[in-house]
Amino acid sequence: MYHRMGSIPSGTLVPGHYVTANAFERHLRLLKRLGLPTAKLGSGLQPGTAVITFDDGYQSFVDLAAPVLRASGDAATVFLVTGLMGQSNDWDAKRGDVVEPLMTWESARQLAAQGIEFGTHTRTHARLTESSEDELHQEVRGSFDDFTAEMGRDPEWFCYPYGAEDERVAASVKDAGYRGACSTRKGINTPSTPPFLLNRINIRSSTTIFRFWHKVWRASRPL
Ligand SMILES: [Zn+2]
Repeated sequence: MYHRMGSIPSGTLVPGHYVTANAFERHLRLLKRLGLPTAKLGSGLQPGTAVITFDDGYQSFVDLAAPVLRASGDAATVFLVTGLMGQSNDWDAKRGDVVEPLMTWESARQLAAQGIEFGTHTRTHARLTESSEDELHQEVRGSFDDFTAEMGRDPEWFCYPYGAEDERVAASVKDAGYRGACSTRKGINTPSTPPFLLNRINIRSSTTIFRFWHKVWRASRPL
């Protein structure tokens, strides 16, 4: 799980969310060396593959991560905040974080044509466990419909903002028509992992290449 690309700007409340293009390139090279090819979620979570996910759909993904992925031929899945496309991370900026632009629908369509997979991450980056029934529907089914209208196909994957999920929220995502959803629960996924509670490994600015290797190793060793 990645968020923003680039070096850490002064004043950010989430310095851990930034990964440089160089570090990202090293992560992809290491996965190759470990014999873990990258795959899209849509390919069905094959054993021995790694799925690279990016939350929020930042413009920095377009500028810094997409070129690295293009060069290495790797796959990735990006979760879009469908009501704020072409705008910025106002959910973070409201609490004093730096403003980070979000990609436009046009960029998403171009990247989709180049093989990047997209899913949704609600309309406004809402904390769904605290949403009313109506808000929950607007955020989950609403983002599904926004995606279909703009991308010309239905989204398959959802990602819970803040990792905030419970049974009610997961049921709403399933009812909306998604195939599965990413949580922020830590670990790898196996055939017995519930599809609406997919685990992830968090990659942060402080994740050195050794720690990256260690996180992947620790998550994938047999219990
Ligand atoms: Zn998010």
